[in-house]
Amino acid sequence: MLHEKLRQDLIDTARKMEQYNLIRMSGGNVALRVEDMILVTPTAMAYDTMIPEDIVVVDCEGRVIEGKRKPTSDLKAILYILNHMPEVNAVIHTHQPKAVALSLITDKLPLISTTMVDEVKDEVNVAPFTISSDEGMGIQTVEYATRALCVILKNHGIMAFGKDLEQALSAAIYLEESCEVYMSALATGKDITVLTKEQAEAEDAPRGYYGQ
Ligand SMILES: [Zn+2]
Repeated sequence: MLHEKLRQDLIDTARKMEQYNLIRMSGGNVALRVEDMILVTPTAMAYDTMIPEDIVVVDCEGRVIEGKRKPTSDLKAILYILNHMPEVNAVIHTHQPKAVALSLITDKLPLISTTMVDEVKDEVNVAPFTISSDEGMGIQTVEYATRALCVILKNHGIMAFGKDLEQALSAAIYLEESCEVYMSALATGKDITVLTKEQAEAEDAPRGYYGQ
């Protein structure tokens, strides 16, 4: 079996998405590019009982290389992102509720915290609505990504991406936290203080202490 360890990493990532309330049941999906292959979660299967054999390996045009399951129904969108963002290797899609709620009321999550600078990298755009399981989700993600590691899909969910699964998952988790913080502040009806460009740049500058 190709990439057995990485298949388990996809499953572990999907289980963490559930633990952090980013998805329910079989919602969302996880994809990882490995050289010229892409590992993706299967469509409509629960993650708690998923085993490495359930992960599907496809090529960059979506042809199945190895796997007996049907790949995620969002495969076209995932392929579009990976084929147009060469620096990205991991793509996560969720229906995380705070981000979806935010998409109903605004077209942007401004840069509001140091956590957001560190983990999401920039303000996050809300892309216009497209139907699910459509390449349009991928096209909108590439168009609205800017510097951030996430795009919110209006009335639907989010795409998070990164150089590896850890970075994409972290971006999705902290995006959800940031949406919660922002909407809590909005609910007061008072003016919102967002980070200035200078503050964001100072926070983003390498300082070399954090991490073990
Ligand atoms: Zn979806």
